[in-house]
Amino acid sequence: MASKESVTFRQMLADASFYYGAELVTTRGIAPPGQTSKLVELGEALAADPRIGWISVTDNPGGNPMLPPDWLASILKNKSCEVVTHLTCKDLSRNGLESAAWRYAAEGFENILAITGDFPASGYQGRSHGVFDFDSAALIAMLSSMNQGLKVQGRKGLESLPATNFFIGAAVSPFKRHERELMPQYFKLARKIRCGANWIIPQLGYDMRKFHEVKLFLDWAKLPVPLIGNVYVLNKTVAGLFNANKIPGCVVSDQLNELCQKQAASPDKGAKFFLELAAKQLAVFKGIGYAAGYLAGIAKAETFGRIIDLASSYGENDWKSFVKELIFPQPDEFYLFQQDEATGLGDGARLNPLYLESLKTPPKTKNVTAGYRFSRRVHSLAFTPGKGLYDTATWFYRHLEGKEDRLVARALHVLEHASKAVGFHCKDCGDCSLPDCAYLCPRGCCSKGSRNGPCGGSFNGRCELADKDCLWTRAYDRLKYYGESEHMLDGSAVFIDSALEETSSWSNMFLGKDHHHVVPPAKETPQPKPK
Ligand code: SF4
Ligand code: SF4
Repeated sequence: MASKESVTFRQMLADASFYYGAELVTTRGIAPPGQTSKLVELGEALAADPRIGWISVTDNPGGNPMLPPDWLASILKNKSCEVVTHLTCKDLSRNGLESAAWRYAAEGFENILAITGDFPASGYQGRSHGVFDFDSAALIAMLSSMNQGLKVQGRKGLESLPATNFFIGAAVSPFKRHERELMPQYFKLARKIRCGANWIIPQLGYDMRKFHEVKLFLDWAKLPVPLIGNVYVLNKTVAGLFNANKIPGCVVSDQLNELCQKQAASPDKGAKFFLELAAKQLAVFKGIGYAAGYLAGIAKAETFGRIIDLASSYGENDWKSFVKELIFPQPDEFYLFQQDEATGLGDGARLNPLYLESLKTPPKTKNVTAGYRFSRRVHSLAFTPGKGLYDTATWFYRHLEGKEDRLVARALHVLEHASKAVGFHCKDCGDCSLPDCAYLCPRGCCSKGSRNGPCGGSFNGRCELADKDCLWTRAYDRLKYYGESEHMLDGSAVFIDSALEETSSWSNMFLGKDHHHVVPPAKETPQPKPK
């Protein structure tokens, strides 16, 4: 490994060497007067450690208000350490996110992990509202546009602002039990890369076959983007929390939880087992072609070092002898690729034959309702450009737009909203995504209003927040039935325009005011400039 002082984070991911990163979580509140922050001490110790390539700083993890990541990043940057700052959509509107991105660019923080984020869990005098004006795909697209020189309206027309040079990361949550949960995750991953993600970090997990499958999927989809392996060091309590689905998207199977509880009962409270588990995961990531490894859930600098030393002590092929011990799936978990019996991992040359067969003869599903079939017909008849009633309706809405008397337009809007409220739980956003979401309203049926695919939080097909199926699992079932599932998240990111709130989405659609007519900001995946 080259000396870390001379290597930027983006070079670490391009380099043949395997680098290690460390995650730090900021605190709610400041250090007591006269005392140094323990977190700063830990960060400085890691920054000085030649084994730690970069430090990643989280943004209000778990949905709790904390010191912002650039506070700690500024301190660490002065120590000549490579830093990744997280940026999440839960607490900031798109303007807040853009403002934060300008601040990061001005401060020299170019490595950004762009994620949707956990729903707020707490707040002053009650739980905070989740913002979710953007989701991760939209945020990545915006950062990518900033890298190309953001176009804004100036006095003399469109102006291009100076380009940023963000190195944009995205997450994927592959530890899903069901096909209808997992496949939308993979399709959203592809959408994020098309939107401009330069590197990927899967959610923490303990099934190396799934981690490997993410790599196989990227190879199969011809999306050559570097991957960072995520290792969260377990202990008895954390294993129990993950097993009980207390932290959205973090999965520990019953089998692994039992093992953790048993090991925790040993004289060293499982310390050796948990460190070895983490070190072996890192060794497997290196063996299967991940670009780097990432350690989280650790409070002491020396623990990071011990795990890295142990991981580095394994021989080049030792991982093959223990990878099968590190596969802890959920019951009947779905995999896109067949298992290679020799390694226990996926076989990139063989897609799951049951999946392929089911694409040819999609199973019946309760999610293909009469209402869904009707919506498809109506859309095809009236809302598809060049077809059926589309031109007539466009003419009609243009005619209404030109009239001073708005009575008919208002009456039609009332009728539209009433019918969509009954049929789809419509919230009258005015920029309708029903066609993007298999005729399920993202405002009414998704707790984060996500229009670009699922967040990472579903468990067993259910929404992380409410007692309901995840919107995107239902959408997948519907689209698969019609042979459209593999294209469900094709295309650019969807952005909703809040200027259209409480206006007629039909009128906005026919008059070309909604997102269906907006030219997407980024069609190609732009490559960041070398630093
Ligand atoms: S996406 Fe907007 S307009 Fe469409 S049904 Fe939902 S709230 Fe109504
Ligand atoms: S419905 Fe799905 S995408 Fe929406 S918040 Fe729930 S789990 Fe996330």
